[in-house]
Amino acid sequence: MSISNSKDLLIKATVGKYAVGAFNVTSIIQMVAIIEAAEEVNSPVIIQTSVSPAKQLTPELFGVAFRFLAQNSSVPVALQLDHCSDIDFCKRCVDAGYTSIMIDASKETLKNNIQMTKTVVDYTRTKGNASIEGELGTVGGVEDQIRVVESDVELCDPLMAVKFVNETSLDNLAPAIGTAHGIYKTRNPKIDILRLKNISESVNGLSIVAPLVVHGGTGLSELVVKELIAVGGSKFNVSTELKYAWIDAANEYIKTYGSKYNPVKMNQLQMDAAKKVVFYWIKLLGSAKKG
Ligand SMILES: [Zn+2]
Repeated sequence: MSISNSKDLLIKATVGKYAVGAFNVTSIIQMVAIIEAAEEVNSPVIIQTSVSPAKQLTPELFGVAFRFLAQNSSVPVALQLDHCSDIDFCKRCVDAGYTSIMIDASKETLKNNIQMTKTVVDYTRTKGNASIEGELGTVGGVEDQIRVVESDVELCDPLMAVKFVNETSLDNLAPAIGTAHGIYKTRNPKIDILRLKNISESVNGLSIVAPLVVHGGTGLSELVVKELIAVGGSKFNVSTELKYAWIDAANEYIKTYGSKYNPVKMNQLQMDAAKKVVFYWIKLLGSAKKG
């Protein structure tokens, strides 16, 4: 049985100086592809759904599929809800078997963010072992229905991070450090690596209290990713790149074999394309052979 929550995977990663990929899916078949890829290189893996696919297929269906796949997997697998600002939906996903939840109240005041995050943490503690991720500061770009324009991006302050972690008792912290969702508009986006280092020292200096999460993985240079891992980044969210790979593979199928109407073959091409993205990230994050 290899059902895991995110925190257990991330503490190991932080100690071992590598990171775990959190890959966003919109369907069960994508889940299968990502877990297959992780198994092939013996890597821990986090499957994520944002709110809209979770609503489309229901958290209960994702929960059941996850339980079956993870129990039969040779590597530890976590299922996480990504960026949810609706407390009731966070609770529903905990009840449905998600092992990790991101309550995103980063657009609220600090006081409200603390209160909302703590509400989800408290609920979860009565229900088992799910881990809770909170966000401080705001990540730019568009993720699901959440859009943050560049002028509203606010980076995370290290002292605030300590207060946020202490007062919420959350498990994993996503501090805004200049990464963005979607595709970066410039070739060299300004990522504040020193800020992550300071946050890491403030929050996890004595012992690992809340492993750090980097959102907006797609499009970051390999050098930046490695530097972020070196200063404590232990979870990298990859969403946009997988969406592109999935749709591009469908387009490729339609162009090449469209008149054959063979959905199994189309599924396979899409799974292969998704697996390629996962292999790339696992190698870059250094999580192979850590399963
Ligand atoms: Zn994100």
